[in-house]
Amino acid sequence: MIRTRFAPSPTGFLHVGGVRTALFAWLLAKQSNGQFILRIEDTDRSRHVEESEKHIMESLSWLGLKWDEGPYRQSERLDIYKQWAQKLIDAGRAYADARTPDELDKIRKSSAARKKPVLFRDYRPDNPPDWQPGMPLRFKSEPKKYKWHDEVMGDLSTGPEVVDDFIIVKSDGFPTYNFAHIVDDHLMKVTHVIRSQEFLPSVPKFLNLYEALGLDSPALATLPYVMAEGGNKKLSKRDGAKDVLDYKNEGFLPEALINFLATLGWNDGTEQEIFSVDELISKFSLDRVQKGGARFDEHRLSWMDGHYIRDLKTTELSVLAQNYWPDAAKQASPEYKQAILELIQERLKYLAELPGLTGFFFEEPTDDNVRELYANPVDKQLKNIDMPIIANMLRSSMKTLESSNFNRDDIAERLNGLLRQLQTKPGILFAAIRIAVTGTKSSPELFGTISVLGKEKVTKRLSKALATLEK
Ligand code: GLU
Repeated sequence: MIRTRFAPSPTGFLHVGGVRTALFAWLLAKQSNGQFILRIEDTDRSRHVEESEKHIMESLSWLGLKWDEGPYRQSERLDIYKQWAQKLIDAGRAYADARTPDELDKIRKSSAARKKPVLFRDYRPDNPPDWQPGMPLRFKSEPKKYKWHDEVMGDLSTGPEVVDDFIIVKSDGFPTYNFAHIVDDHLMKVTHVIRSQEFLPSVPKFLNLYEALGLDSPALATLPYVMAEGGNKKLSKRDGAKDVLDYKNEGFLPEALINFLATLGWNDGTEQEIFSVDELISKFSLDRVQKGGARFDEHRLSWMDGHYIRDLKTTELSVLAQNYWPDAAKQASPEYKQAILELIQERLKYLAELPGLTGFFFEEPTDDNVRELYANPVDKQLKNIDMPIIANMLRSSMKTLESSNFNRDDIAERLNGLLRQLQTKPGILFAAIRIAVTGTKSSPELFGTISVLGKEKVTKRLSKALATLEK
């Protein structure tokens, strides 16, 4: 029975790199009908952020990463750690460390002066006092070589120089992460510990502690860092890693984010990029997680989200889109909005793009805007055309659309006919019409846009643009 856990420290929001760890642990548990445990590692009171726990749970829930047990909170388990600390004391494997911070600093400095990493085991106090509340407790290590297997990184080994004495209970009575997680993983019967690369250097210490406690180590899997988009750094909050809930607010779909995160450093051995959650559950495996850091790529996420948006029924999309329409859309009818969605579904990547893509359906283009777009058109071919010629094109367009029923096909037929008649290019005629009816540089497919806008708006806009050109 596989049991995995996600063990965040509530020090702020959950970012996209962090939640990938949760996803991989969840996938591994789900594929064997195992359990996924949520454990809040809140033993560092100085870094504790109020609301963080709630925020983490909301992020996991939104993504559908349901935990089967928990949330356990380490702050509510202090008695348990005390008992286990006592076991170590009784076995002669922990000692109270009554030295002042200044004294410890001296030890660090003298090692630094000899250009040696500090090893506290070389400076054990001769007669440590009995452990009392308010005194840190330090693990008494037994330095030796280690060889172990990491489910992602493969076979690893280290020498005795990395095994040292470390604090297991702090002066405030709270255990350290290094100690508490070992006790908890054991008591919670965790079979696979999946965590980020930053903990890899500590593994020999942990192995030493498992032995001292007479415990077997769970299977260990180290996930390489998610790398920041630019530069060679790991993605971190400081380097702009976004809160998972930001993506929720921007209208990304949870299934797209899951797909994106799962394929950030994992593949199934084929070129496949789109995976449903069920497919991920059945196909995921730790041995196909890549050893090197995977680069975060927000464009890829948008592309993926666009894929999932295209897969929605328009009725589903319209429910999701409800809170994303521009303010100007308040008075618009549901039918009008539905037609707009049908038109833009193809190119919509996430819902927060909605106002930018659809504003012109609800608001009239301004004269200034239209004038500016004709003066500096993005369409290169339109650049060289004189204003009176453009005005003429608009006039002809109005005329040919006058008797249209405004079905898309009819519009297409009429405007293509006009194109042939005027012997001009689509990049000229259609660009000229686009500016007039949308007041934007780019729009959804033009004939569909004209059809959705409807006769009244289109006629009004064409004649207004014409007046602007003729001024
Ligand atoms: N509390 C640690 C963190 O937030 C968890 C590390 C682990 O999974 O063991 O990074």
